[in-house]
Amino acid sequence: RILPIDPEKQNFVRQVPGACFSLVKPETVKNPSLVAFSKSALALLDIGEDQVKRPEFVEYFSGNKILPGSEPAAHCYCGHQFGYFSGQLGDGAAMYLGEIVNTQGERWEFQLKGAGPTPYSRQADGRKVLRSSIREFLCSEAMYNLGIPTTRAGSCIISESTVVRDIFYNGNPINEKCTLVLRIAPTFLRFGSFEIFKPVDDETGRKGPSVGRTDILCKMLDYTIETFYKEIWDNHGLDEQKMYEEFYKEVVRRTARLVAGWQSVGWCHGVLNTDNMSVLGLTIDYGPYGFMDRYDPDFICNASDDGGRYTYKKQPEICRWNCQKFAEAIQEAIPLDKTIPHLELYDQEFDSQYKINMRKKFGLQHADIPEDKELFELFFETMQKTGADFNSSFRCLSRLPLPSSPDFEKHHKEVEEYLQQQCCSVEELRLSCKPRMDPRQLQMFLNLLQTNPAIVEMLGMGVKGIAQELERLEKLDELKKLTEEEKKQKDKTLWEDWLKKYVDRLKVEEKKVTDIQSVNQSRVTLMNSVNPRFVLRNYIAHNAIAKAENGDYSEVRRVLKILENPYSDDFDLGDLTQAPEVSTSTADEDA
Ligand code: AMP
Ligand code: MG
Ligand code: MG
Repeated sequence: RILPIDPEKQNFVRQVPGACFSLVKPETVKNPSLVAFSKSALALLDIGEDQVKRPEFVEYFSGNKILPGSEPAAHCYCGHQFGYFSGQLGDGAAMYLGEIVNTQGERWEFQLKGAGPTPYSRQADGRKVLRSSIREFLCSEAMYNLGIPTTRAGSCIISESTVVRDIFYNGNPINEKCTLVLRIAPTFLRFGSFEIFKPVDDETGRKGPSVGRTDILCKMLDYTIETFYKEIWDNHGLDEQKMYEEFYKEVVRRTARLVAGWQSVGWCHGVLNTDNMSVLGLTIDYGPYGFMDRYDPDFICNASDDGGRYTYKKQPEICRWNCQKFAEAIQEAIPLDKTIPHLELYDQEFDSQYKINMRKKFGLQHADIPEDKELFELFFETMQKTGADFNSSFRCLSRLPLPSSPDFEKHHKEVEEYLQQQCCSVEELRLSCKPRMDPRQLQMFLNLLQTNPAIVEMLGMGVKGIAQELERLEKLDELKKLTEEEKKQKDKTLWEDWLKKYVDRLKVEEKKVTDIQSVNQSRVTLMNSVNPRFVLRNYIAHNAIAKAENGDYSEVRRVLKILENPYSDDFDLGDLTQAPEVSTSTADEDA
């Protein structure tokens, strides 16, 4: 920690060398009120529903009041953003409030996101608005309930204080309400936390603000290992080099497992910079993330990722690259020849975890044959060619019982029809998956274009970009009308072919089992516990946000309830069952 300076001046923007944290003060907001809370996340802090209802709750978790004993701080970290070292970044909008040990004996750190400026806010204001906060809140809890390691979100609180973001309607700035999310995790330390010690970077010529401070680097490594990797600390605490090496190996393995989890539910992070990589292997920092609707390996959820660095299919290799950057960050404590060779573990761990996940997703538990890999790949290829929805396609497979079951034919027909009914042409798929503008933003630009084209040019989007977007949507519409019958037929055969192979594979499975009836049952249970029925599709978040912006939080709360049971068949999804015709990516500048 840096020593307290003039308390009135804590939050001014600056470089902070030689420190990992700076003391800060949350700025107050006007009339905070609760949008939603997660009961199970708040339980981690021993906060029950009755306490949420008390007026102090919103006071404390809007930053208006400081909890007794809390010493808010902002964390200094660096990062490689989009492949390049960016120097000091740090908690620009998040503030550490403290840690508690709950009645279960677990230690949890909690933070406020959107609490105002810190030394690391750079040109921004340290605030978050309703749409970005709801996105972080809902997806944190969605991931947790899917069983994917993640930071948690306890509450989402809106206020009557406002900030302006880059959205203009008829030339007027829109005021958006400052909103805060309470985040909870064992720690928010990330790869970037260690990059503050980074020596001069070859490409950019930049160095971390604390370069040369090997003393602090080792202190922070020791703290991390002793607190969060207790077993490694206990086993190797006396041999520092060995301890750091084991720690690095475990970070690499956890990261690989995490990414395998993302790939298995079709989720894209969107901003896989090293400052968004947790040292505990948690999903961290929910910005322009997205669940895929139609399967597309080149899916990009971040509309500003022009180079396609963070597409779905690149996530595994990018996170491996990030692990390499992590090794470089700690090289003053442990030399590269003791860390870099362990990147091999990443590939091993990813491959084995991914295979475990896929075997469950396809319900293959009794036989293990090498050709399975091709069967899986062909499924992905067929989804891509036919424009099938990632999660719905997986989910429907459990409706198929083992081939010699009495009602097999009936179910087979149902599943085949279900898969085929999603089909659209490849060209249509290509057009519908291209990175595109947020529809809301497009509409605003169109309105603006009619009254004042010069402003649109000035904002940098360019009239040309909008014209292209319109052309794409038009083409897509035409394709949908014109070739409906032809394309359906072609795609139908693709699914028939794949299903034949799958049924053959199930016959192999069947040979290994004796009680078909009970295997059919466990098969459904297993598959439905890894293939979610409900995921936070972009349009679902979008609708909940639109209602919340009109002061109606019921949809956010309803969606949260369903997200808490993503694998269950018991919830009435109402209007939320459908996979959308066209997926949307998010152009959320506040992410
Ligand atoms: P991200 O791309 O979300 O990982 O953020 C990159 C950097 O920008 C981090 O240092 C964030 O703390 C900072 N940042 C993001 N949003 C804001 C904001 N509204 N105000 C200040 N800093 C921000
Ligand atoms: Mg971040
Ligand atoms: Mg962020």
